[in-house]
Amino acid sequence: MSIKDHLQYLKDTTVKEVDVRSAHQQFADNQSVLIDIREKDEVKSGSPTGAVRISKGLLEMQIENIVLHKQQVVLLLCASGNRSVLSANSLAQMGYENVFSIKGGYKNWKDSGLPFEVPKMLNESDNERYKRHLLIPEIGEEGQMKLLNSKVLVVGAGGIGSPVAWYLAAAGIGTLAIIDDDVVDKTNLQRQILHTNDSVGTSKVLSAKKRLEALNPDINIITYKERLTKENVDHIIGVYDVVLDGTDNFNTRYLINDACVKHKIPNVHGSVFQFEGQVSTFWPSKHENAPCYRCLYPSPPPAELAPSCAEAGVLGVLPGLVGVLCATEAIKIIAGFGELLIGKLLVYNALDWEFDTFEVQKDTQCKYCNSNKNTEYPEYVEYEDTCTL
Ligand SMILES: [Zn+2]
Repeated sequence: MSIKDHLQYLKDTTVKEVDVRSAHQQFADNQSVLIDIREKDEVKSGSPTGAVRISKGLLEMQIENIVLHKQQVVLLLCASGNRSVLSANSLAQMGYENVFSIKGGYKNWKDSGLPFEVPKMLNESDNERYKRHLLIPEIGEEGQMKLLNSKVLVVGAGGIGSPVAWYLAAAGIGTLAIIDDDVVDKTNLQRQILHTNDSVGTSKVLSAKKRLEALNPDINIITYKERLTKENVDHIIGVYDVVLDGTDNFNTRYLINDACVKHKIPNVHGSVFQFEGQVSTFWPSKHENAPCYRCLYPSPPPAELAPSCAEAGVLGVLPGLVGVLCATEAIKIIAGFGELLIGKLLVYNALDWEFDTFEVQKDTQCKYCNSNKNTEYPEYVEYEDTCTL
């Protein structure tokens, strides 16, 4: 059978087609995912505005990260509407029920005056700096662009926030923000690797900014020398794609959870105690069974049971490991590959080298992550300032 006959056969039997105008309408109504499956060289002169761009060869490997469920409408676009027929057939065989090939491809899209954009590409310096990322198919140029276009907020420039910020700056997170109102103390240097002896007594966020800019001058470092409060949290958190909770007090931890749930932002959480570290991602808007931090711990422990931060001990390298795990999770969320720690709590114990992953159930009574348009979102709560260590 010639390729032409084969395409015709697929169109007659398994593959559904859609014209560019209907495809655009469906995409504009937020009912579908539009994937441009052309090669990098073809995409660089233009691609439908807002489309996900994954070349045909990588589509089957990456589709799970893009399409949330098998019933979701998927619109595939190539140059002229032939390759998209073949890919639509492959996805149908993988169980995707509503895949459409766009008739006439990008040529028709452009000729019909539908919106397109010229995607930003990496420059020479980026190609060099991020070369080892570009060589991994799961990241590649597409993933690196996502990292460069992303905005991440790290709460706390301490034991966990330090390695998080170091690695996210190195990875090329385009806008990296750090919030902390503290100054560097000599007792911090045992684990807070963003700071050095000469920064003792100076602001933690400025010390962090200095080091991160020296590491990667091509990204934008934003600093907030303040505490997150009920008053400023909406204003600060709302603009970020991912928030990393590396805080050391319960008041801020619950505030981060409540604000992230409200703004539908993934909250990557890391915590340490003596020899044990915990990591999880709370992102209830991602899917209906995904819990929030309050599903796991509905409220902070009473103040008399929590030590003050100055009294609690911790093995210095432990927050380093937890921070690296958190940074890994943030990169996976943004670049869109691999499994995430949604609904899972990763617990690490440095004494016996054990890594365990526990399931975290969604609390169906949790009034934070179960709130919807018909119920008022709960007010932010101010707790006594107790230490999470
Ligand atoms: Zn919840």
